[in-house]
Amino acid sequence: MPMQHKRLKRIFCVSILLALWVVSGSACSRYFVEAADELAPSAAKAKTRGNLHIHTTCSDGLDTYEDMVQYALILNFGFIAVTDHTFGGSALCNDVISQCAAEKRLLCIPGMEVTGKVHLLAIGIRNEIDKRLTVKQQVEEIHQQGGLAIAAHPFRSDTAYTDEELFETGLDAVECKGIPANREKDFYDKLKERNIPCVYNTDAHMTTQMILIWNVCDGEIKSLDDLKKALKTGKCRKR
Ligand SMILES: [Zn+2]
Ligand SMILES: [Zn+2]
Repeated sequence: MPMQHKRLKRIFCVSILLALWVVSGSACSRYFVEAADELAPSAAKAKTRGNLHIHTTCSDGLDTYEDMVQYALILNFGFIAVTDHTFGGSALCNDVISQCAAEKRLLCIPGMEVTGKVHLLAIGIRNEIDKRLTVKQQVEEIHQQGGLAIAAHPFRSDTAYTDEELFETGLDAVECKGIPANREKDFYDKLKERNIPCVYNTDAHMTTQMILIWNVCDGEIKSLDDLKKALKTGKCRKR
């Protein structure tokens, strides 16, 4: 029966085409989904830039808090720390601290640069740190307040750290800059032995200084805790 045979053949062919369409369709859509996944920035692949040593007109900075934040945003920073030479203490400085704490455009961590015998960044503190304390006592006080203690420009001649202050006081990080050539190896060896990370800040007293160098950390930095973890696990480096 040729007519019936023809119909059967047509049904068979249509079924094969349908099956092929379903299989290839699902394979293709799977391919596109996988490709889109690769393109999508996941939290694990994100990198966050930031600078933890920024001055404003509250102390000896030339630009306002707002100017500094605007410039940080242009550089695509995800975090900054405001580290004037006092922690509040005047209407302007109190305002800078409150604006930073309430900042929504990026993570701004209020802090200060304790300016005593050495300069020590106290980041994420709640009260001013007394510059007359020893470095060890300052670090302890910063930790008690839940903050991070970071040695600022440790080799600057007028405020240079001793080895003991740098390596034996429980610092969370050190600004690795201005290291004399003959001390480099010893310096990096000691940091490594104690698992103290380097940070790369600019000590910015005006907006344009922020472009000189920055920290880049793997993952997102949305809180002080994120930053602490990233530093401790070696996720931050020089850009
Ligand atoms: Zn300083
Ligand atoms: Zn400074």
